[in-house]
Amino acid sequence: MRYTGLIERFRSRLPVAAETKIISLGEGGTPLIECQNIAKIIGHNVEIYVKYEGLNPTGSFKDRGMTLAVTKAVEAGSKAIICASTGNTSASAAAYAARAGIKAFVLIPQGKIAMGKLAQALMHGAIIIQIKGNFDDGMRLVKEVAEHAPVAIVNSINPYRLQGQKTAAFEIVEELEGAPDYHYLPIGNAGNISAHWIGYKEYLADKKSQKTPKMVGYQAAGSAPFVAGKMIDNPETIATAIRIGHPQSWDLAHKVEAESGGWFASCTDAEILSAQKLLSSSEGIFCEPASAASLAGVMADVKSGKIPKGAKIVCTLTGHGLKDPDTAISQCSGAMININPVMDEVKNAIINNM
Ligand SMILES: *Cc1c(COP(=O)(O)O)cnc(C)c1O
Repeated sequence: MRYTGLIERFRSRLPVAAETKIISLGEGGTPLIECQNIAKIIGHNVEIYVKYEGLNPTGSFKDRGMTLAVTKAVEAGSKAIICASTGNTSASAAAYAARAGIKAFVLIPQGKIAMGKLAQALMHGAIIIQIKGNFDDGMRLVKEVAEHAPVAIVNSINPYRLQGQKTAAFEIVEELEGAPDYHYLPIGNAGNISAHWIGYKEYLADKKSQKTPKMVGYQAAGSAPFVAGKMIDNPETIATAIRIGHPQSWDLAHKVEAESGGWFASCTDAEILSAQKLLSSSEGIFCEPASAASLAGVMADVKSGKIPKGAKIVCTLTGHGLKDPDTAISQCSGAMININPVMDEVKNAIINNM
């Protein structure tokens, strides 16, 4: 049967009516990949799976929420959507708005969004408003302007976003035939960790699983309000997707932490980049820097003894590596061999590198 997206697949668990016109790009259904090479490197007999959300239509998990948010906006008669974004929300909003034939206004922090994401928003025809400020400034402005202009907000404060995104937890439980012991995610606004928790609890209540995982949210050290226990004003990290100092789902995420028995922690930019490289070079999985905070977190927590031997762990890889080619390439400087176009030099390059 042709796959037509997560709303059709999980229709009975989502707030849509029989006559609702679905705006979909075939999102969801992303692979859950077991990382045996990395598990071996980490030791401890842990089982690690990555949910590769970078394989959604616009290259991030945001599509799971956007399909429902835009479907409901169109159903309600909206002619335009708006969001503040560190990049991926704008790419996703732009694509789904194009599909729906409505306008997308996106507010992005000038100079702080990865090149792939900007290319997407431009190509899909969003109206891009660059602000001399960060994501948090953009979010504040979006909330204000939505009270004065006929636009629907499609940030994760829109509850339909979380409803769409909860389906990732459904897919994981179905594939593993039960919930994992731990679920690690990078967190920015903390909408996604909250959405997964909704999904896990729903499947537990309906006896589709016997338990829920401990939910662990990782932040970048320079942008870690949940670790600081308070909002911060000038977040900085190379992982631009989680460069957020005033998370919108503050209360929800604290409930998730308490109910699931999980925790928040942070890792350095260096740890993030090294986990990103490890995934690429030892498993063939290319995610963007922010996504790798989940694996960096697992590595830190196994090392410190927080994770028991034999645990089953899922890491969400939130976005695709091609979103941010600049950061990837600058991490691999000196990795190329330059030669003249002659056979001997190619042969030497091979022999010297076997
Ligand atoms: C949006 C995003 C996040 C953060 O998700 P939140 O729901 O804001 O916590 C993490 N990684 C990537 C790649 C993202 O695009």
